[in-house]
Amino acid sequence: MPARCLTLVEIDTYMDEQDIYKERLELALEAAGLDLWENDLVTGDVPCKVTKIFTELGYSAEETSWYVDDLFSIIHPDDIPMLKTAISEHLTGVTKQYRCEFRIRAKSGAWVWYANYGKIMDRDGVNEGRRFIGVTFNIDDRKCKEDELAQVNRKLIEQNAMLESLNATLQSLATSDPLTGVANRRKLMEVGASEVQRALRFGDPLSLLIVDIDLFKLVNDTWGHMTGDLVICAIAEACVQYVRSNIDIVGRIGGEEFAIILPQTDGVIASNLAERLCQAVAGLQIAINDATSLNCTISIGIATLSASSTSFKHLLINADKALYQAKDAGRNCVRCVQS
Ligand code: GH3
Ligand code: MG
Ligand code: MG
Repeated sequence: MPARCLTLVEIDTYMDEQDIYKERLELALEAAGLDLWENDLVTGDVPCKVTKIFTELGYSAEETSWYVDDLFSIIHPDDIPMLKTAISEHLTGVTKQYRCEFRIRAKSGAWVWYANYGKIMDRDGVNEGRRFIGVTFNIDDRKCKEDELAQVNRKLIEQNAMLESLNATLQSLATSDPLTGVANRRKLMEVGASEVQRALRFGDPLSLLIVDIDLFKLVNDTWGHMTGDLVICAIAEACVQYVRSNIDIVGRIGGEEFAIILPQTDGVIASNLAERLCQAVAGLQIAINDATSLNCTISIGIATLSASSTSFKHLLINADKALYQAKDAGRNCVRCVQS
């Protein structure tokens, strides 16, 4: 069909329509706070440049005219590599759209966050990949909120870690003896009851030692209470050294008295261990200052789980009886109550 020239009326109508489209586009851009830009990738021309952002950033018309052609000079240096990568990935077809977030320096010197969204038009058209069109818009509010959120999150993580460590400290304070660090009486009773239950369930042997420092009152009276405390700690340490870690439980019942729960241990093995512990303590030189060390002895009472002794309370009573026998026998020795 032969081409027909447009009449003047048709040209006028066409021009009016173009104006309406332009006005609609401008309204939409303004309402959405978008600054439009366009690059001609063939000629290198920039038919449409960002301008609105400069007013927003506080620049005068003169400053705007400097920066409009040299936007990179006021983009945060840390953001430039990422921005360039995003552009090149889109130009080479790696990404379908060009998206990037970066900071621009305002007149005041503050960094303000912006985002770019763009696309090469006509990728499959006649002027393939010629026009690179996009919009720039302010995302500072969102970024600030993200920062605030990240800060709140960081604080929460820190506080959580602090709470966990406080909980662990509280747990340890609630279960250990403050002077010696071994289990306190409460913990000992708790573990004792559950170990007895376990031993009964599996038919395993279980023994209990009660260790008492001999004539400890004399240590206090001679050397003072502080030295007495040192001796209590040294004996607790010796007990811990002589038992299996993570299996046997050493606890301070009170004063200068300790209990040792020995799971899966019969009376013979418990007696051997108690004898060795007694001898070790008797040979211990406890340094109380740079020049002086003293030694002391312990007496040990032993009780073993049996048909007639089936609770931790029973074991404590029997081990205590055995301890009295050891004291009566002259101290620095081991006695066992047969039940
Ligand atoms: P025995 O051989 O019969 O056990 O004699 P003992 O002197 O060891 O026993 P006694 O019960 O007469 O004395 C225990 C002393 O332990 C009395 C008490 O003042 C002291 N004591 C209790 N708790 C502590 C403590 O935490 N630190 C110190 N330094 N002394 C303590
Ligand atoms: Mg004593
Ligand atoms: Mg005592």
